[in-house]
Amino acid sequence: MTSRRCGALALAMLARRTCPKCQVVYGYCLPTSLGMCVLCAYPDTSTPTNPSANHASLKGS
Ligand SMILES: [Zn+2]
Repeated sequence: MTSRRCGALALAMLARRTCPKCQVVYGYCLPTSLGMCVLCAYPDTSTPTNPSANHASLKGS
């Protein structure tokens, strides 16, 4: 009877793949050094989701 143990392991793996900040479940284990997904750890390097905000920053500079 290892089904219960496998279930606990699956939950542990699921927790390691779930970002605590954006709650997104990824298909790979998140880097433990970051403690979150790469997009949350480095939001500036991600693709801009709001083009108008990026345009405003260019206009301000
Ligand atoms: Zn995240």
